[in-house]
Amino acid sequence: MAQNKIEKSEEDWKSVLTPEQYHVLRQKGTERPFSGNLYYNKEKGIYTCAACGQELFSSDTKFESGTGWPSFYDVISSDRVRLHEDNSYFMKRIEVVCSRCGSHLGHVFEDGPEPTGQRYCINSVSLGFTKEEDAGKEKE
Ligand code: FE
Repeated sequence: MAQNKIEKSEEDWKSVLTPEQYHVLRQKGTERPFSGNLYYNKEKGIYTCAACGQELFSSDTKFESGTGWPSFYDVISSDRVRLHEDNSYFMKRIEVVCSRCGSHLGHVFEDGPEPTGQRYCINSVSLGFTKEEDAGKEKE
């Protein structure tokens, strides 16, 4: 497995994340569908990793999937995520993790819309959001 660029002990992650974020991001949990505050977000901007702040998805690729989880048909750049085969819960799925900190984001499926046909099904709690008008201002 590729090295993460940000390495923290699980104790450190616990201290910087909320319990729900920790459960999803570090223990590969799944939030309840329709529970996240970014599912209905239609503002223009950039979705970031909630754990390390890396920019992951653009609002331009977000679409209404009906699943209850924020869904995107593409990543800002393929090097922002790593994909792992996930055979848990008797399903064959592809897990999506942040390439910078290794945190769990969600899964990607092949039933997305054009032009990619991909559906990145991402936990809202794994994401941060920067509105377009705030982009370019001082970060972190
Ligand atoms: Fe990250």
